[in-house]
Amino acid sequence: MAELRELLERLSNAHGPSGRERAVRNLIRAEIEPLVDRVEVDAMGNLIAFKAADAAAGAAPRLKVMLAAHMDEVGFMITEVGKSGLLSFQAVGGVDARTLPGKRVLVGDDQTPGVIGAPVPHLSDGDRVPGIEDLAIDIGAIDDKAAGGKAKAGDYATFATRFAVLHDDPAWPTVRGKAFDDRAGCAVAMAVLAERYPVDLYVAFTVQEEVGLRGARVAAYRVNPDAAIALEGTICDDLPQQPDEDVTRVTRMGHGPAITLMDRSLLSHPGMVRLLQETAAAEKIAVQYKAPGLGGTDSGAIHQVHAGVPSITVATPCRYIHSPAAILNLNDLAATVALVSAALRRIDRGYLTR
Ligand SMILES: [Zn+2]
Repeated sequence: MAELRELLERLSNAHGPSGRERAVRNLIRAEIEPLVDRVEVDAMGNLIAFKAADAAAGAAPRLKVMLAAHMDEVGFMITEVGKSGLLSFQAVGGVDARTLPGKRVLVGDDQTPGVIGAPVPHLSDGDRVPGIEDLAIDIGAIDDKAAGGKAKAGDYATFATRFAVLHDDPAWPTVRGKAFDDRAGCAVAMAVLAERYPVDLYVAFTVQEEVGLRGARVAAYRVNPDAAIALEGTICDDLPQQPDEDVTRVTRMGHGPAITLMDRSLLSHPGMVRLLQETAAAEKIAVQYKAPGLGGTDSGAIHQVHAGVPSITVATPCRYIHSPAAILNLNDLAATVALVSAALRRIDRGYLTR
C-alpha cells in the first residue's frame, strides 16, 4: 500500500496538461520499463507498454487485452502576455472558473510560480461570477518585458497543489493532491504491471483525454485489442445532502471501485460488465456502480476502433476532480488494482460475446 501511495504521490506532483504530458510520461516509462517486454511512444505521445502472457497461457493466438489510463490533467494555456505583465489564459479541458480565483499555479516548463488573479469581492458586483476571460495569471512581473522572460503564449500552467496524506488510518486512508483524474488510473495501471497474466497485455498511458479522448483513439487503433478496460479517477459527490434531497450519488468514497455501465461516451459491453461482477464476487471485493449518464472516458473512443472492442471503465472515486485539489481513499485505489488484476486472470473469450 505504501508503494501505491508513493506512486500516486509522484504522479500527482508531476505536471502534465493535455498536449504536454512529457514529464508524466518520462516518470511512468522509467518506472515500468523493467516490468514489461516492450514500451513505445507514438506520434501523439501515448506511452504503450506490452507484457506478453505468462507461460501457462499456452500458444498463440492469445487474448489481447488493453488497459488505458490517461496521463493528462486539466490545465491552462497562456494566450497573451499583457502590458502590465499579467498573463491571459484559456482552460485546457473542463475547468469551472468559480474554482480558480486565488489559486496557485505553475507556469511553463520552468514551473514559474503564479496566482490566478480575479477582481476582489469589494470591487465586483456581488452576483456576477467571474468567467475565465475576467481572470489572469499573475507571476509578479513588473511589465510585459519581465513577464515575457518567464512565460509566453503557448506555455501551459497547472495547479501547484502538492500531494499530502490527510488521514493516515488503515481503515480510512485519505490523501489529497491535484490531477487524481487520472493519475489514480495511471497508478493502478502501473501496479497491475507488476504481475504477468494469461493474456497478452497492452497498457496504454494515453494523452489528451481531457480534450476529447484523442490519444486513446490512436492507441487503440494501433493495439487493436480483443477487449479493453479504461482506468479512471472519477466523480465522487458524497458531500452532505439536505435531508429531503433524493438524489443518486455518482459514487461514494470508501465504497470500492466504481464500474461504469453507461456514460456519455460508452454503453459498457455486457460481457465486460459480467467479467467485473463475477471477478468482484469471487474475490470478495466491494464494488459500486457509477450513476449513469455522466462524463466520458477513454473507453468511449476505444470501443469504436476497427470492428469494435468490448470495453468498460472502472474507476477510483475522487472527490473534487478537475479542481485544484482532489481527495481519494487509498483503500479504493488498492481495491481497483486487485479487481483489475483478478479480471485479467479471469477473462476468456466467453466474456467477449454479447
Ligand atoms: Zn479522467
